[in-house]
Amino acid sequence: MHATRAIASGPGDVPTSPIAPRELLARLEKVGKSFSNRVEALRSVDLEIRRGEFLSLLGPSGCGKSTILRLLAGLTNPSLGYINWLSTSHDLGFVFQEPTLMPWANVFDNVWLPLRLGGQSRKTARPKVEEALAKVGLSGFDCAYPRELSGGMKMRVSIARALVTRPALLLMDEPFAALDEITRTKLNDDLVALKCELDATVVFVTHSVFESVYLSDRIVVMAPRPGRVVAEVNVPAPLPRNEDYRLGHAYAELCRETSRALHSAMSAEPGQERVG
Ligand code: ADP
Repeated sequence: MHATRAIASGPGDVPTSPIAPRELLARLEKVGKSFSNRVEALRSVDLEIRRGEFLSLLGPSGCGKSTILRLLAGLTNPSLGYINWLSTSHDLGFVFQEPTLMPWANVFDNVWLPLRLGGQSRKTARPKVEEALAKVGLSGFDCAYPRELSGGMKMRVSIARALVTRPALLLMDEPFAALDEITRTKLNDDLVALKCELDATVVFVTHSVFESVYLSDRIVVMAPRPGRVVAEVNVPAPLPRNEDYRLGHAYAELCRETSRALHSAMSAEPGQERVG
């Protein structure tokens, strides 16, 4: 993980304020994406991703959340507009809704995969794989196979695999949607703790208002047909948060605000201006 660069540094520069805005990592400018079946998945999306933030993309199915992640990952290109990377390094990790582990390989080999693809031997990779497994609470599970693990543990392996290369940006596509609520709550807390420890930047796709408010610094609300950004909600409480925050007034109020933004998003007419 790269340390946050000062916004101004060097002789004669204006000193940075402790509340200086976060450095930009990437910016989508008027991004449109249409597919050959004429689906307009995204229309004129402006979106900034700032270093060290936890950003959620919230919206109903089909509003283009996954398409934004795929664009950021370079798996597809915009039909219109630009993605500007404002950082020299934009290596990234991707966590999908399904853990997508290789069933024939043990936990170690699954986490080793991205390093192996980068040419690192098992021996060179070992400390990094073990560190990543420790970070997700799976020390000692190196030799277990995916079939021996619970859904939550498989997702932890998938997160370790995404983090093992120390990416500047972690993209997560509804990673906890298929998990039971208790496991999901625990993974939410562990993910935020990990994000804080690594000072990682996370772009997280969800359709859960509660999850997005609990996890995020900033929530971008999207509407479908065509997919577009219609509102933004800032969550001012510092990360990590805890059960007291979840039970408190500020959380409930932000959930109401986000929920209202999501409802207007779902009824927004195409091309309507941002509502937040
Ligand atoms: P979300 O993640 O918000 O559910 P997606 O980004 O997956 O939305 O999809 C946005 C829209 O684009 C949907 O209507 C979807 O069917 C369509 N879409 C996504 N990928 C493709 C593709 N490869 N070919 C055609 N249509 C696609």
